[in-house]
Amino acid sequence: MTANTTDDANRSDTDTPLDLSIEVTCDACRKTATFQVNHDRYTAWRERRMLMQDAFPHLSAPDREYLKSRVCRDCWTAMFGPNPFAD
Ligand SMILES: [Zn+2]
Repeated sequence: MTANTTDDANRSDTDTPLDLSIEVTCDACRKTATFQVNHDRYTAWRERRMLMQDAFPHLSAPDREYLKSRVCRDCWTAMFGPNPFAD
C-alpha cells in the first residue's frame, strides 16, 4: 500500500478500498451472498461508466455474474450448464 491519497485519476488498479458491502439475493434459490466492492467503482459500473471486470477485478467471474444477474453460481450452472467462466 502507498500513502497516495490523491484524486481518482491516480488510483492504481489494485489498491482501491473495498468500502461497500453489497448483499445479493439469488432470484432463483433466494440464497444471499455479500460482496465487498469499491463504492466508487460500484457506482461507475451501475452508471455504465466502467466494465464489470474493471470495476471488480477482485471478484471471480461467477461472482461478478451473480452480482449482475442475481443468479448464484449453483443456479446459473443448473440453468445454463457447466460453468462457462472456468479460468
Ligand atoms: Zn441460486
